[in-house]
This record gives sequence, C-alpha cells and structure tokens, in this order.
Amino acid sequence: MVSLEKINILAQNLNLEHVELPSIFLGQGVIKEITEYLKQKEFQHITIVVDNNTYEAAGNRIKSNVINEGIEVNVVVLTDNEHQQVIADEQTLVELFTKTSVYTDVYIAVGSGTIHDITRFCAYYMKLPFISVPTAASVDGFTSKGAPVILKGVKKTLQTSSPIAVFADTNILANSPKELTAAGFGDMIAKYTSLIDWKISAWIANEPYNQQAADITKASLQLCVDHREEIADRSSYGLEILMKALIESGLVMLLLNYSRPASGAEHHLSHYWEMSLLEKDKKQLLHGAKVGVASTIIINEYKNELATKSFDSFIGTTFEQQLKQHWPEIMTLIDKLPSVKEVAEMLSLVHGPSTVEELGLEKELVLESLQNAHTLRERCTGLFLLNTLSTHNRIIGYEL
Ligand SMILES: [Zn+2]
Repeated sequence: MVSLEKINILAQNLNLEHVELPSIFLGQGVIKEITEYLKQKEFQHITIVVDNNTYEAAGNRIKSNVINEGIEVNVVVLTDNEHQQVIADEQTLVELFTKTSVYTDVYIAVGSGTIHDITRFCAYYMKLPFISVPTAASVDGFTSKGAPVILKGVKKTLQTSSPIAVFADTNILANSPKELTAAGFGDMIAKYTSLIDWKISAWIANEPYNQQAADITKASLQLCVDHREEIADRSSYGLEILMKALIESGLVMLLLNYSRPASGAEHHLSHYWEMSLLEKDKKQLLHGAKVGVASTIIINEYKNELATKSFDSFIGTTFEQQLKQHWPEIMTLIDKLPSVKEVAEMLSLVHGPSTVEELGLEKELVLESLQNAHTLRERCTGLFLLNTLSTHNRIIGYEL
C-alpha cells in the first residue's frame, strides 16, 4: 500500500484525521491483491462495473481471481451509445441501478473516468462502498467525490462518494491506448492555469485558499513535467509518477470538498465545449485532452492579453481596490507561467493533441467559449477579469 504523507499532513491540518481516505495500491501487478483485500474486508457479493474494453483489460481477470476464492460476482457491462462511448446520463445510471444484484455489498469500478462516475453515483445512492480499478491514467477524478453526470442533457457535477480503495496496476495502465495517458498528463498540465486562477480568486474575490493544498498540486504537476519523457514512453516508472499525481490531485479535492486547485478557466472552456458537443449530439472528447489544449489557450490569454493591460484598465470595475493591491503579484505569477510553445511541446511529446485543430474543435466555438465560459461557474479567474472589461476587444494572438 502506498503512503501519501503530504495528503495525511493536509488532512491533519484541516482537522480531517477522522476522514477515512482510500487505501492506495499502485505498481506492477497490484490487481492480484484485490482478492485478499475483499477477503480481509469480508465482502461476499461484488458487482464489477465495466464496458466491453475494460472487461477485456482487467474485469475478466478480477472476476476469475475472485470467483476462485468463493466470492459471488455480478458483472455489469455498461451499454455504449451510437458513438461507441459510455455516457454518464440517466439511461446508463438506471442501467447500473437495475443490473445491481440486491446482494451486492461492494462495487468495483473497472475503467476510466466515466465508469468511475457512474459507479460512484450509484454507490452513493445505494449506500454501498466502491473500489476503484483505473485501466488508464487518464484523469484526476478517481479519488475525488465529484461525479460529473448528464441530467436532462445538462452536465452537472454532484458530490457523491470516494472509493474505499484504489488498485492502479501499472501493467494495465501501460496497455491502455496512449491517448488516454496523454489525457491524464493534460489534466495535470491544466494545473498551471487552475492554480493561478485559484490564487487570483483568493486575492480578488476572497475565495478560501489553502497554501498547502496548492503546494501539493504544484509539486505533483512539476513531477509530471520533470518525468514527461518516461510518461511519453509509458514506462512503469513514468506511469507510476503520473498516476500518483492524479491520485494526489483527486485526494486534495476530496479533502477540501471542492475542485478549485484542479479546475480554473481552462476547465470552464472544456466544460463549454463539452456542452456544445452534447447539444449537437457529437462524439465526446477526452476530458484531459480538452483541458490540456485549453491550458495553452488560457496561457496565451494571460500572457498576451491580461499581462499587456495596465491596472488602469480596471479602474471603475467592481474589483478595482483588490486589483490595485494585487496587480503586481498577479503579473509575477503570469510571468512565471511556461510559454504556450513549451506547454504545447510537452503535450505533443506525450502523444496528445496540442492545438484546437488537433482536438478537432471549430475555431468559432473556441472564440465563443472565450467570451462566455466564465459565466458557467461563479468563480473568479483571469478569464473572468478579462471579460469584465467592456472595452476589451479580444484579439486572438494564438493561432487557433
Ligand atoms: Zn480535470
């Protein structure tokens, strides 16, 4: 089991020692330890949640290991849509509810982010625990409580439950499609801008801020950046670093009970794009792929738009006083951001999209999202500040 010391210290400092954090098993071959864990916890009836791909990747092995020990297994293979994607909408949520055996005492989510979201939603409302088995290092939400689900066509993130244990087997992660690993790296790269936005909001809108949580997230990001070659090669060591960073980021959100350190203007852009694709009934894009590219767009906005303004542009706006006090510090943070080129190169290195074209989005949608995405959440960000300037005419310096 992996000990996450910094997370334990954060829990202590937040007076949350009583919160039971998930047990983390990370490394080569840890999938074999699931059976022993189930026996220790005296679970007798498990429901494994998979899709066709993740059943092949890990679900069938877990099933046969567990059956050999006399534990009863119910496997739910979630149905995909016309785009061959499993979506966390009412139809799929009800599918899992109705296919869950009444004897189930624990769920095992085997898959990437969406299968986890569907499982955590059902586990929460069934008052059952769930175990996480990521089949790709694709997203930072495995260990958080947030379940983004689509209800009546609108995406909402509900706070549900976190797993009691995570079994992240790097042998399985290494066999996942490389765009999923690239997406996990993109979700970490997004912290460059989410962390700045959180600090801006703390200064300007008095949003609660936790330095230790920010430091943990920043250190996880830096570790991924330092080891990007190993992550690109998808070596066991590289995947362990990326997965640990994603797990830690999720645990920080779990302890704070909000997603702020990991979600800023780049996530708002991604959310806007996702809703548009949903409305048009188009195939969804990977979360991490979207937020990675969105980070490059936001870095461009901050370096080439926000940083070229003087404080005078904000005189007469609601936040004039706070901005006056903190403008130099905001400029320093923006200055320290890597360049668009550097971030785009990192995304390309790990085999992910680095431009809007590679992502397959329309330029018009991206421009529209830059004008409007800040209204999706009541959160102050650099993008929000730019859009509060009525005189601001956006000139897109970055080649979209
Ligand atoms: Zn994210």
